[in-house]
Amino acid sequence: MAFIIDQNLCVACGSCIGNCPNRAIVRRGNKIVITSMCSDCGTCIHYCSMEAIGKGKSKAELNNKKLYYALKDKLSLKKDIAAMKYANDPPERVPVEEGPHFWCGICGDVFDGSGSPVFFTARASSCGGCANIGIGGIKSTKEEFEAALNAQVIGEGNLYATKEVMATGRSIFPRYPKVSGGVIIGSLEEISMPDLIIFPVNGHQMCMISTAFAFDTGEVISGYAGKSACLMSIPFPYVANKPVFAIGDHGGRTFMRLRDEEFVVCFPYRLVPGLVANLDRTVYANEQHN
Ligand code: SF4
Ligand code: SF4
Repeated sequence: MAFIIDQNLCVACGSCIGNCPNRAIVRRGNKIVITSMCSDCGTCIHYCSMEAIGKGKSKAELNNKKLYYALKDKLSLKKDIAAMKYANDPPERVPVEEGPHFWCGICGDVFDGSGSPVFFTARASSCGGCANIGIGGIKSTKEEFEAALNAQVIGEGNLYATKEVMATGRSIFPRYPKVSGGVIIGSLEEISMPDLIIFPVNGHQMCMISTAFAFDTGEVISGYAGKSACLMSIPFPYVANKPVFAIGDHGGRTFMRLRDEEFVVCFPYRLVPGLVANLDRTVYANEQHN
């Protein structure tokens, strides 16, 4: 693993444990150890007064192509993995999405292998989901907002019966700050060092992911249902640096082109190397021994 603790210097005070953003430092018996979830950020060094933490011999694997193929292969993913990278301006050679388009629709294009990276902003967004994914809200008049709600969100066949139902449900989820002016969305294969990855899974694949993630962190992965796909899948992993799975709403599922048995899982990118390493140590190690 990337960073290691010198057991001769460590006094097991535990002060590094809660300061690792990846929950990569754990107590095992009398020892404090750094696990495969370490992504080399170096934060923990500043919390150890014994200078017991240092760089190990290996480095965390943050090569997006390698991680992309490892996940596709180990989880037998039929669909593509979308990656999101926050930025204020589009990088060279990445076109700006003119819209109107839905964030979930762009994800659906990537999942189906038909979407090349685009820079998506609130200006191109055709719904309020742009605020849910951290790129700010659409500028619209009250009349335009009401018309959009009535056409796409409220009423028979849509997600909410009334505006009050929508507002009550929305209040359950905290509001998240605007992260940047836009976000690059494309296949993980093409986007280096993204902030988040999101992809469709079935129940079996989610079991494998949960087993691997829980192995070192000791944490379960929470799932959300009942609100829009963007709100349930994106803000929490970004703000809390934890994976979630989400069922999505009717519209989001349609635009993402999810099959009935599919839902999405969203991971902070820096947790992906640990996930991949632990898929080998948990799911595959067991199969080899059977
Ligand atoms: S992820 Fe960062 S804080 Fe956590 S163990 Fe690794 S270097 Fe330390
Ligand atoms: S802060 Fe340093 S001494 Fe304390 S548990 Fe962590 S590595 Fe050990």
